[in-house]
Amino acid sequence: MIDSHCHLADDAFVKDLEEVIGRARAAGLTHALCILAADNPVEAERARALAAIWPALRFGIGVHPHQAGQFEGREADVVRVVRAVVGSIPEARAIGEIGLDYHYDFAPKQVQHEVFRLQIRLARELDVPIIVHTREAEDDTLAILREETGGIVRGVMHCFTGSRKLADEALALGMHISFAGIVTFPKGANVRDVAAQIPADRLLCETDSPYLAPTPNRGKRNEPAWVVRVAEDLAALRQVPLEDLRRQTSANFAALFRP
Ligand SMILES: [Zn+2]
Repeated sequence: MIDSHCHLADDAFVKDLEEVIGRARAAGLTHALCILAADNPVEAERARALAAIWPALRFGIGVHPHQAGQFEGREADVVRVVRAVVGSIPEARAIGEIGLDYHYDFAPKQVQHEVFRLQIRLARELDVPIIVHTREAEDDTLAILREETGGIVRGVMHCFTGSRKLADEALALGMHISFAGIVTFPKGANVRDVAAQIPADRLLCETDSPYLAPTPNRGKRNEPAWVVRVAEDLAALRQVPLEDLRRQTSANFAALFRP
């Protein structure tokens, strides 16, 4: 079992990090991908301690669309910032999370677009996959992905909450689709419908911890061990044995991230 997206370098885990990682390993997790905010030096610094405690941990590094606004007028700097963090962490395996978020709109759209594009180009230069966050920005996200890649994207749509059309078009680009605790929520019916139909070899599961704790722990701090709850519901709605789902999503993670 693998948690393909968590934020273990977040402040939320500072106090009991060793216990959190201990529970993840006890739950059968062989790997996890920890997202680091490239613009937050504290998180990059914590990556060293994290990797020392859990050598199988791998990292995705990027500037989130919520944080893109700080690069307004100097967008090209995002490449320098992300490249420096990637270069300082031997376990870095991906660029992300990157993308567009029009729900909160914390940064002007044009700045979000440019920061997203530049990080896609960096990922292609470094030959690593991308982790894409998209919210209420499906058409622009797909347009930028197509324009920047020529139609083949090595990457994942993370914490999928989008439309069936977004899933189909992301799959057509060659992407993986990752589901979080939302599949366990009573109001997650639309997400469950999409999750039931994703080809087995493109499916990933994640916690997005400390956010989005699955039921029955909804509202609490989430942690990587609870990815098993996501996997249980995914297995049930796809009508496959849990063991098969765990094995398949682990193989998919290995194929995409080469951990
Ligand atoms: Zn995340």
